[in-house]
Amino acid sequence: MERYKCNSVGIIGSGIQGVCAGLQLVKKGIPVTIFDRNDPLSEQFRPASYGNAGHFSPYAVLKFNRPDIIKDVPKMLFSSNGPLSLKWNYIFKLFPWIKHYIKNCNKTSMLHTAKYMHQISRSADESYEEIFKEIDTTNLVDKKGIIYVWSNKNLKSRNLEIKVRNDLGIKQKLLTQKEVLDLEPNLNPIFDAGILYENSMFARDPHAILKKIFKLFLSKGGKFVQENIQSLKQVEKDKTVLNSAKSEYYFEKIVVAAGAHSKKLTDQLGENIPLDTERGYHVHFKGMNNLLNRPVICLDRGFSLSPMNQGLRAVGTVEFGGLLNPPSKERIKYIINCAKEFLPQLDAHYDEWMGFRPSLPDFLPVIGPSSKNKNIVYAFGHDHLGWTLGAVTGKIVSGIVAEEKTNLDLSPYSSKRFN
Ligand SMILES: Cc1cc2nc3c(=O)[nH]c(=O)nc-3n(C[C@H](O)[C@H](O)[C@H](O)COP(=O)(O)OP(=O)(O)OC[C@H]3O[C@@H](n4cnc5c(N)ncnc54)[C@H](O)[C@@H]3O)c2cc1C
Repeated sequence: MERYKCNSVGIIGSGIQGVCAGLQLVKKGIPVTIFDRNDPLSEQFRPASYGNAGHFSPYAVLKFNRPDIIKDVPKMLFSSNGPLSLKWNYIFKLFPWIKHYIKNCNKTSMLHTAKYMHQISRSADESYEEIFKEIDTTNLVDKKGIIYVWSNKNLKSRNLEIKVRNDLGIKQKLLTQKEVLDLEPNLNPIFDAGILYENSMFARDPHAILKKIFKLFLSKGGKFVQENIQSLKQVEKDKTVLNSAKSEYYFEKIVVAAGAHSKKLTDQLGENIPLDTERGYHVHFKGMNNLLNRPVICLDRGFSLSPMNQGLRAVGTVEFGGLLNPPSKERIKYIINCAKEFLPQLDAHYDEWMGFRPSLPDFLPVIGPSSKNKNIVYAFGHDHLGWTLGAVTGKIVSGIVAEEKTNLDLSPYSSKRFN
């Protein structure tokens, strides 16, 4: 059987989606150039794929479009001391996202999201394992599982999560407080119970892993150009032009993998995708990573303690505030306070970071051809699971570009769902 051959692909974005898609495409023998305003091998490279919590969490299929939490959202937004916050100067810009969120926040949509997250997330780990055979991940990937803890105050929500995961056949081990403390003896026992995802993988340094995947892409003939892409436009049937401030570049096909920044590009194509961002933060406590054996997530507070190579990373919270507002000191303070409640041994933190989760209001990513041009393929909007889904999205996207058949139902990820 003759295989479809694409002559050239340009990828916008060298976050985990762009790099994994690039790697899979060069493996198919397709010439690829990745563009990013920052070089992934440099210190300036600080996107979501750099500073996330490092969880490979294919089990996390239940998202925030859940009827059990919508009534709590306004209360959370007005509190400066909770897991969710809003920059009030951004509220009008957030309206398109909110409109779709309200439409998608019901039991049917919640289960739809869970089902189609699960469709791709169940192959997430094995897709990474394939890549890990080609790079050295010593001291970069742990397999000691991931723990979630909670207090008894939101038990109804916890029971719903456990049931949906059970129904999807996801393995989970319920733990008493004592069982959590047996695994993580340094934790302050200010929680009532927990859950362990045994053997779940954890990235001790997501940026270091991304750099290795990127170098593998280069070693297989992939190219990289450090430029900010300002516009994209189809000029002929199989020809799209990318413009930066300095140059223009022509490709047969394009992959848009610019994370939360992708909307600037898709708007130019006449799409109306309600992509926004859920801003998240991290700080590090140097030398404190040995306090935990594995990541611990506190569900009530919306944050994680991740034992990274750089130190203990306290990471999380969701802030709606767009791409341009400055970071919020109160969010950083919130994370530090939460971290110290759970691990009173912690001292001063040494750095602060804010990142942009690319968020869609039904919490499914956009993967597939643009509704305006089949030669432009989207790979963005993975929200809280973008790190987990990098490798599997790379495989799916490369298959779409190479026009291969798939057994997956890709229609739920199409941008057409927002029309
Ligand atoms: C606090 C926090 C914790 C998280 N924890 C986890 C976790 O534990 N597990 C998990 O699975 N996910 C997690 N995530 C989510 C995950 O990090 C993201 O979903 C994922 O990294 C997004 O990857 P991406 O490649 O789509 O985008 P990004 O990593 O944002 O990369 C996009 C790239 O595109 C480039 N770019 C954008 N526009 C242009 C342009 N016009 N021209 C050139 N370059 C451009 C940017 O410079 C950037 O490098 C977390 C996110 C945050 C913020």
